[in-house]
Amino acid sequence: MRILLVNPPNCGRSIPEERYGLTSIKQIFRGEPLALETLAGNLAGHDVALLDLKVDPDGLAAALTGFSPDLVGITAVTCEAQTARQIAATVKADAAATTVVGGIHASNDPEFFNSEEIDFVVIGLGKASFRQLADALERGERRPRIPGVAVTSPARPLAFSPRSYGPGDLLQALPPRYDLVADKRQHYTLLGHPMGFVASAYGCPFDCNFCCIAGQAGGRYLSCSIETVLRDVRLLGEVPIIRLVDANTFGNVGHARSLCRAIAAAGLGKQFLGDVRSDTVVRHPDLMREWHAAGLRTVVIGFEEISDAGLAQMNKENREAVNREAIAILREIGITIVGDFIVDPAYGHDDFDRLYAYLQANPIDLPIFTVMTPLPGTALHRAWRERIVTHDLDYYTLANAVVPTRLGDAEFYRRYAELFQLTHPQAKI
Ligand code: SF4
Repeated sequence: MRILLVNPPNCGRSIPEERYGLTSIKQIFRGEPLALETLAGNLAGHDVALLDLKVDPDGLAAALTGFSPDLVGITAVTCEAQTARQIAATVKADAAATTVVGGIHASNDPEFFNSEEIDFVVIGLGKASFRQLADALERGERRPRIPGVAVTSPARPLAFSPRSYGPGDLLQALPPRYDLVADKRQHYTLLGHPMGFVASAYGCPFDCNFCCIAGQAGGRYLSCSIETVLRDVRLLGEVPIIRLVDANTFGNVGHARSLCRAIAAAGLGKQFLGDVRSDTVVRHPDLMREWHAAGLRTVVIGFEEISDAGLAQMNKENREAVNREAIAILREIGITIVGDFIVDPAYGHDDFDRLYAYLQANPIDLPIFTVMTPLPGTALHRAWRERIVTHDLDYYTLANAVVPTRLGDAEFYRRYAELFQLTHPQAKI
């Protein structure tokens, strides 16, 4: 079977830019499409091509004509979901191929894709289930029953058997097909340096109310073996920076320690970026030290809030004092901190002032500010559903307010953009 895997273009829209000319806070995603490379790793025997529309935004027509796929798989985060449907509609019109959508939006809100232009929705980890689907279609089955795969039926609510995700869904013996993007690798960079993606874990053991990660592995946390991670790092060859793209790289501390020691012993000579919770840093500063010695240069931390009440409201299971202590520990070790703070649309001037003052008192290398967004499928979406005024998913980039702002939009976005301007001196607004 000829299978085309498609990564959507950068397609999120920006209210601050469109209405107020504030161009500094638009979200641009530039990493390699590891999820699709991972799917492709389990498609041996099929003829597979990967189209990254983030690098080649006009490449769809040529791929459909030149490759003539039988099956097209499209991944999408929430702000790409509408574009994924448009891509599927183009595929139906121009290539008459079977269309499948997967990825984090499909995993959290599969009903969104229950539409004419889409034939199947893959929910959660798809490396095993997408292969099962491709094989079933090749055998001529039109409506195969595969746990975690929904057959669309636009006239009725989407029905499917849930899948119980486990290590078997990772198929770790089969590496990602990094070779499928070899000719695009010069586009996957961080500050001008080549950067490759490696997965070392899927899912997260926590359940923050705004977070969409639970859909990935049905709420489970699955670590990749040390051999798998080392193999994938090596497969990236000369690429000097490795982004561990897990939602929570250090969720299993014992495993993270063993991985760190194996990386150090292997003498890979790479620099690593990973995601860590602040409470993990505070409980295990020695682990951070060991990782730093093994090449960990930067961590991304979701600090989210600057008050205990705010953290509790998010079900973050963390405290503000722990966030501050983690900042001090990481600064002392010399690990660069990229920290996410969530700005609530209910913010008033005092709240913006407090957040800025907090960052003055607890400086981090690169603060990132997102706007609290009720992503479909999350507990926050269920709680805020009635308040949502912007339903167009193109705006669900985490940099737009989709519920009413307390300050009024013009003032809210002025203060929001000012946070970037004050903390990222190079940013233009
Ligand atoms: S925000 Fe982070 S800690 Fe919370 S559930 Fe998501 S990945 Fe886990």
